[in-house]
Amino acid sequence: MCADTVYVWEDDPGAPPSSRSPVARPAPKLDQPPLPVVIEGSVPGAFHSSDYKLRYWSAADAARRTIDWVKEAVPGELKWHKDVGRKLTVHLDDGERFNAWYNRTGVYFFHGTANNQTIYSAESPDIVSHEMGHAVLDAINPRLFGVNDPQVYAFHEAFGDISSMLSSLTVDGFCSAVIFDTGGDLKKSSRLSRTGEQMAWALRRSRPHKVEQTCLRDAANEFYYMDPMTLPLRAPAVQLCAEEHSFSRVFSAAFLDALAETFYGNTVERLQDSAKEMAKILVAAVAATPMSTRHFADVAAHMLAVDRVMYSGSHSVELRAAFVDRGILSLSESSELTQAVLDSGTEAIERVIGAETLEWPELSAMPMPGARYGLRENFLVIAPSEPPRFVNPVPPNGDDENRPQRAATFFVDSLFSQGEIRVPDELITEKSPMYRQIESYTHEIVRAASGLYELRRVGFDDSNEGKGHP
Ligand SMILES: [Zn+2]
Repeated sequence: MCADTVYVWEDDPGAPPSSRSPVARPAPKLDQPPLPVVIEGSVPGAFHSSDYKLRYWSAADAARRTIDWVKEAVPGELKWHKDVGRKLTVHLDDGERFNAWYNRTGVYFFHGTANNQTIYSAESPDIVSHEMGHAVLDAINPRLFGVNDPQVYAFHEAFGDISSMLSSLTVDGFCSAVIFDTGGDLKKSSRLSRTGEQMAWALRRSRPHKVEQTCLRDAANEFYYMDPMTLPLRAPAVQLCAEEHSFSRVFSAAFLDALAETFYGNTVERLQDSAKEMAKILVAAVAATPMSTRHFADVAAHMLAVDRVMYSGSHSVELRAAFVDRGILSLSESSELTQAVLDSGTEAIERVIGAETLEWPELSAMPMPGARYGLRENFLVIAPSEPPRFVNPVPPNGDDENRPQRAATFFVDSLFSQGEIRVPDELITEKSPMYRQIESYTHEIVRAASGLYELRRVGFDDSNEGKGHP
């Protein structure tokens, strides 16, 4: 039997010594459509420790809140990706590492120790809502999962952090606290903008430059868009780099800015209305956006087009301000996105709003030379080869005629150099000594039924300890 009231963390336990206290919430019901969730492990009873209860119910409540914001934002009957099955399984503690991940068998959380204090990633609603965000985006538009492109990958991470923000905003007490703390200016750093304060504290004990000063990532930041292919693969957290979590901060910042621009009145009700409107605009946009090398800009343009369809363009000024201010849309691109241009996408957008099932054109695969990586054979990769719907395929000041191929190559290079690809033994030669069998990887090369080798994504790894080297 479940208790009617449970105690959970409101958004994150906070960095020790934290003054935060658990809050009372109704016991979440998870086994219900849309998007039913099951938590592996016992429902807390009298014999469980208070720590287990807090961890279990914090994760359960965060999962419930995620479904709550998604349910408001998606009018149709949404289902998990077919490989997930009818229910998504939450694994509360899958071993020792500072990590959390989503793959199409569930969402997984772990534990780790810093300064003699054990930290559980499932105990942070921020982190749970982020992982749930990966699963939700995979349900809304499964094509992002397999595309080999730095921006598409980073977008998945941005969506995770946005999910975390939207999930927190379903809680009235949290909204009151954020309005009070920021004075109503959501662009200020706050518990809303910061993700994973406790985990960041733990990681800073051993890797002080890996995460931001106060959290894993702060959407209230100063990052400005650059083509990720011009950025290094890693950098201290204070700098922007092509690594997906780092780069995602540009889009999540623009989303927070847009939310801040549309929020007025300083009431909980108005804040929740703004969040619901932005969530609706975002999910319809991500469902309709083609897989191109200009994903951030094209999603932004789709958000403007969705706003035309849903709200007669009433958020146009705020959305443009947010995306131009972050360099995601250039000034000239924003000017080119006239009402007539945006309305040319109305049919495509109306097709995804409320659709029961969506038919997606198959993405083309391109051969990647195995010799580039010291492998015995070539393998196929899905490239971001669709043209963007609204923005130019080549970015302003760009001169690249074959961006999809260059982006896929950049991306696969980054996966190999960070040890994220599991390579079958039969492909390994004396020129590929660095490919040992690794325990944790996001991608693998497999032999398909066609007899050809293919690169496939396994999952999203939110490791903060270094990829592929748990
Ligand atoms: Zn993630």
